[in-house]
Order: sequence, then structure tokens, then C-alpha cells
Amino acid sequence: MERRDCDAIVLFGASGDLCYRKIYPALYHLVRRGVLTVPIIGAARQGWTLEQLAGRVRESLKAFVPGADEAVSARLVGLLRYVDGDYADRGTFDALRRALGGAQRPLHYLAIPPSMFAVVAGHLSGSGAAHGARIVVEKPFGRDLASARALNQTLHAHFPESSIFRIDHYLGKEPVQNILYFRFANSFLEPVWNRNFVASVQITMAESFGVAGRGRFYEEAGAIRDVIQNHLMQIVALLTMEPPVNTEGESLRDEKAKVLKGVRPASPAGLVRGQFAGYRKEPGVAPDSRVETYAALTLEIDSWRWSGVPFYLRAGKCLPVTATEVVVDLKPPPAQVFGELGPEQPNHLRLRVGPDVAIALGAHTKKPGPVMTGENIELFVAQQKGDDMDAYEVLISSALIGDSSHFARQDEVEAAWAIVDPLLEVRTPPYEYAPGSWGPAQADQLVKGPCNWHNPGARPEDWQRSCGPGPRS
Ligand code: NDP
Repeated sequence: MERRDCDAIVLFGASGDLCYRKIYPALYHLVRRGVLTVPIIGAARQGWTLEQLAGRVRESLKAFVPGADEAVSARLVGLLRYVDGDYADRGTFDALRRALGGAQRPLHYLAIPPSMFAVVAGHLSGSGAAHGARIVVEKPFGRDLASARALNQTLHAHFPESSIFRIDHYLGKEPVQNILYFRFANSFLEPVWNRNFVASVQITMAESFGVAGRGRFYEEAGAIRDVIQNHLMQIVALLTMEPPVNTEGESLRDEKAKVLKGVRPASPAGLVRGQFAGYRKEPGVAPDSRVETYAALTLEIDSWRWSGVPFYLRAGKCLPVTATEVVVDLKPPPAQVFGELGPEQPNHLRLRVGPDVAIALGAHTKKPGPVMTGENIELFVAQQKGDDMDAYEVLISSALIGDSSHFARQDEVEAAWAIVDPLLEVRTPPYEYAPGSWGPAQADQLVKGPCNWHNPGARPEDWQRSCGPGPRS
């Protein structure tokens, strides 16, 4: 990768929530690590002075960086510049051009509503501030396939794809990158990582909280748009892609896009939507809302490696824990040497990708005693705490040096929308479920095979599922 570092950062939306909660703390840590020394130009329409912007940054550090070092904070504040004005006004961009001074490769970070992307990109281009620049845009990248394509066309009118960095902060997370590393740094997985040995794959993204006061936003999204189209599809891609040639340049994104293009559009017949009881009473939520706060679905991949292997995906709010886990079940041995006395759970690989990292192998061992009967055990391959570095820190530092490997490319984004697009048309009312439960019971019918959904626990070792004959809970 040819490294061309940015020589200024422009923050559109400097007065907004994302800058306050995520971007300013991330910039602090980048300054602390010595990797950020370029001017940071905040752009907002608040009529602020530079001192007021600095005050906002300091407030953010007070709230989100406990024990922030004063010398580092002062270095960050020393990098700040401020441009005031509405983004619809061309004059704001002339002022920005002047504030950029001699900068040749600015990084324009659009922490603004997607409805403003086209306006800002157009003015950046018209004022000359797009020349040599990179642009960072935040998810959501559209609301469906058609709007994602339209958004991409708009951005491409002013920036080449190589200069567009689409942030899905999930891609900057340590545990998600761990999937990639574990798959391709080891040789023992590859022989079994295919339809011959894998029986099914389950991915559960559980959140124990509700919409946390963001009801108005959530009404426009729902679980499929909010996390399945982006975060869960990224996990599917990392689990199923072919080995990239390396992790530089486009190889990684080439392989992810290729496998996502092979995923069949999801069928509404394989979808169960749920809504937690009480959602309709949240501020900003319609009293008759049909928006799903839970979705479970089955995917199939038309590829040599994965043909015939069902992928069960599930995401929901107000579930018993906050945790994201993948369980890859292997097929049983070709002969039942120990007959009915064998354990019921299949061999499995369990990857916990949030909030902490764990990799565990499910195996069978003999129970001590004269009878040849077994038990299920789990061998922990790795267990680590959560992220050391916040995802925004990873992603902003990557964008600054032009490393696009952890950003979503146009074809990946469109392929992921193409998979979920048929589900966005579903208008039937979602099943109601009790907060603190694992969602609607109807989702149990989706999973075929010896075991039900696996339910992650609060701690990595606490997961559960039921297998074998008899009622499954
Ligand atoms: P906010 O509404 O808090 O901030 C939007 C910012 O854009 C505000 O600073 C607002 O200024 C500014 N703005 C909007 N229109 C104009 C205009 N015409 N001229 C000047 N300024 C304008 O949104 P968020 O910070 O929450 O989100 C920003 C982006 O990040 C969105 O795309 C969102 O989807 C995405 N995102 C946000 C997350 C979060 O946790 N907040 C998480 C993931 C993605 P003013 O204050 O003056 O209105």
C-alpha cells in the first residue's frame, strides 16, 4: 500500500452527537499516541468561536476519557480550527478552503445526517476542497439497495471510490478482526471449513437494552437495517470468504464482496420478526409501529465451499444479555462407535466477538467410569477482554494513512443490501416478545438440526442450548 498521509482533518457535524461521544475521544487517543499532529477544522453552524469549539471538545473528554492527561488535551485543543456556517451555503466552503491553508490531502469527515452528504460533497468539489482529499461517511449507507446505489452515485460524482471511506465502526473492532486472524493464521481450520464438515452456522447479536431514547431513529431503521445488513453481514463475510492474498490494498475487500455476492437474497419465508413489549410506548415510536426490534433469518450461500450449509442469523434488543457469538457446528462422525451413549451436542467452534473475545472448541470426552459414555466439554483457545483501542481510533488512524481495508466498499455494501432487500418489504406485524426473553418462540422453527439456537451468556463460558430429541427450549 502506498502510504499518503492526510495533512488536515475537517469535521462536519462538529456540534453533533457522534463527534461528542466518539470522535473527540478517539482524536484525543490518537494525539496521545503521537499519530495525530495535523490541524483539525471543526465546521458547524452554531455561531461558535474557536474557544467554544475547544470547550465542547474538553466537555467530551471530561465525559468519555476519564483521567484525560491535561498535556495531551492541550495538544489536541492546539490543533483545532473553526469554520462557522451552514453547509447549504457555498460561502462556508470558501471559508473552509481558506482555513485549510496549504493542506493538500484533507480528510473530510461527514458526521452529519445522510440527507446532507450530497450537498456537502458537491460544495467540497465546487470549492476545490475535494481535490486530493479523502471523505469519510458514516452508516447508514442507504435504506435499501436502490437508495444505496443512488448514494454511491452521488459520492462518485465528486470522489473516486478509492477516496471514499465508509465507516461501519464494527469493522474497526478488535474481536471482529480476530475472526479474520484466527481463520487465516491457522492451518487446522481450513480442511473442515466447508460444506463437507460444517453442518450449520449460527450468529446471534443480542443487546440487553432497548432503543435507549432513540425511538425516532429506530422507527426509520429496525433490526434488519440497523445491524443485520451491516454488522452481521460483515461477520458472515469474514466467516465465509476465501483467503485474501494479503491484508493490504483491495484483496480483503475483493474476497468479502465476492462471497456476499454469492449469498442468495433472503426469503421472507425464512424470516421471523419480533418487537419487545413496551416498544410502542417509547418516545418517538408510533403507537401502532410494526418496526422489528428482533429478527431471525436463514441464509444460504451459492458457493463451492458453502452450498447447502444453513446460516442462521439473529439480532434483537431487550434480550437477556449483550453479547455477539458465532457457533459453527460440525457434522457428526461418519459412524456412531459409541451408539446412543454419545453426547448430544455436535462438535463446534464458538467465537465470541463482543463484548469480549473468546474462541472455544466443543469436543466430546469420555466420562470416567466403566461405561463408554461421554460428555461435552469446551476447550478455550483464547479469551481476552474487550477492545483496548476504540473502533473509531482504529478507523480514523487508518483513514488518515489511506488504509481502506477496514472500510466498506461500494460493491460490499450493495451486495449486503441485495441480500436483505426482500425482507424490507415484509409488512406483517412482528410477534411480541417479553423484554428479557430470547425473542419470539416462532424463531425456534427456523433452526433445523439436532440443536436449537445457542444463547450466549453474560460471561463467555455461560452459553446454553438444548440438543437432542424432545422439546427444545
Ligand atoms: P447529530 O444530529 O447529533 O449531528 C448532526 C450534525 O450535523 C450537527 O452538528 C448539525 O448541526 C449538523 N448539521 C446538519 N445539517 C447542517 C447544515 N445544513 N449545516 C451545518 N450543520 C449541519 O447526528 P449524529 O452526530 O448522531 O450522527 C451523524 C452521522 O453519524 C449520521 O449519519 C448518523 O447516522 C451517523 N452515526 C451516528 C452514531 C451516533 O452514535 N451518534 C452512530 C453511528 C452512525 P446543528 O447541531 O447545528 O443542527
